[in-house]
Amino acid sequence: MSVRDADIALLPAATPLIGGKRFDDASADLVPHIYAATGKRTVDVHSAGADSVHAAVADARSAAPAWRALSPDARRRLLLKLAALIEQHADELTDIQVIETSTPRGMAGHYAPMVVDVLQYYAGWADKVGGDIHPVWPAQALDYSVLEPYGVVAVILPWNSPLFSVGSIVAPALAAGNCVVVKPPELTPFTSLRFAELALEAGIPPGVLNVIPGGAVAGAELVSHPGVDKIHFTGSGPTAQRILAAAAANFTPVGLELGGKSPNLIFADADLETAAQTAVIASLQLSGQACVAGTRLLVQDSVYDEMVERCAAQIAQLPVGDPTDQSTFFGPLINNVACERVLGFIERAAADNRSRIVTGGTRLGDELASGYYVAPTLIADVATDSEVAREEVFGPVMSVLSFRDEAEAIAIANDSVYGLGAYIQTTDLQRAHRVASAIESGMVWVNGAGGLPPSMPFGGYKHSGVGRLGGRAGLEEFSQRKNVWIAL
Ligand code: NAD
Repeated sequence: MSVRDADIALLPAATPLIGGKRFDDASADLVPHIYAATGKRTVDVHSAGADSVHAAVADARSAAPAWRALSPDARRRLLLKLAALIEQHADELTDIQVIETSTPRGMAGHYAPMVVDVLQYYAGWADKVGGDIHPVWPAQALDYSVLEPYGVVAVILPWNSPLFSVGSIVAPALAAGNCVVVKPPELTPFTSLRFAELALEAGIPPGVLNVIPGGAVAGAELVSHPGVDKIHFTGSGPTAQRILAAAAANFTPVGLELGGKSPNLIFADADLETAAQTAVIASLQLSGQACVAGTRLLVQDSVYDEMVERCAAQIAQLPVGDPTDQSTFFGPLINNVACERVLGFIERAAADNRSRIVTGGTRLGDELASGYYVAPTLIADVATDSEVAREEVFGPVMSVLSFRDEAEAIAIANDSVYGLGAYIQTTDLQRAHRVASAIESGMVWVNGAGGLPPSMPFGGYKHSGVGRLGGRAGLEEFSQRKNVWIAL
């Protein structure tokens, strides 16, 4: 199961890529990258310091006027060229993600086609963004507004789904005419760096897309930099609060894609076998390390026992193990810290005698013992006020709660600080619309899990975020509106 030298050779150098060149950062720290399936080091990552941040922002600022002035059709062609290169390098990008995050290959392989789609979609927008003409009174005047780029956008990424994260944010930011400085975490620098190398190969000018792998030091430096015109952050709530405080100094606008505790409402009229499959996939794909994981299972009391049994049976059949194996569904967590954190949640739930661990609950042993595997875990009879009903675990833990009727289901679903995704399983069309309308979340999926077309506005309510990626909303996220009034 160990990752081969040939696979490690695929990884691009984990050094900053600034202004089209590798940057030698004297302030960088060397941090080992660990293959999560075995716990073994692959290569060292140069975790950027302040020097990289200043160089990247300066190069992005220098590149910004020409990128903004480029004709929209030229920007469209460059994004299409990048999409073609991502398609051409899809297998390589999949292999890189498997090593980088230990995401099972079958899952990791979905991301390159999704990113190709996103790039093509936003290439299409690049030459179609018009403005608006507004009615004017009482004076005779022409009043119109246009979308303009911010200038330099800082993009702070989390470690999960690295290719989709970088692609789905950089595509609209570039299409809108911005230059970008991406800061992936030192845990997962490789995909973003390879993406930026391919952008250069596509002809996107040096300085337009810069990547500085790093941690909190580089992140804090970047978000407080006066040369940054817009921040887009994906990650956890506590980090978001620090970023908002830092951004306040320069009044820098911030877009936030944060965590969730997405409810999955299973009504007695649902197709129960499909609902169980959906529940398991929605909560356990990426080993629960997905922001939209539907880990809060709300089940109508008349089918509660049956649904718990069906989910446990589905979990027992999940292919667990080697991420390089195409048939594996369930891989390890990102690192040992994540394992300990998830096991802590499970231990505290087990100590709460109102709930019961139906399956899982332990670290996996035997040939998986050196990796960061926690068994897929189902906890039933969870109380609405318990930690596993309220906190984002970001690991393979499904919490099951019961409800009597639709009103109670909605009340429990909305009793959360989060509002990212929600899932509804029902065969009653009117109920589907009614409940979708009542749920406080940015996205609702009915009778299925997680379709993510590039046209879909993606984002959260409440503590799950501010702003939207995807669709025209994604383009507006990276644009500011200017109004022009002309006396006639
Ligand atoms: P995190 O908040 O620990 O780190 C995210 C990024 O912020 C990293 O690049 C990190 O280096 C950087 N960072 C840390 N301190 C910083 C600071 N002071 N200033 C600037 N940057 C700083 O989150 P994580 O553990 O990497 O990611 C997991 C979280 O991300 C989960 O909560 C998950 O739900 C969320 N997430 C949300 C979405 C979404 O689209 N809504 C997508 C993926 C992940």
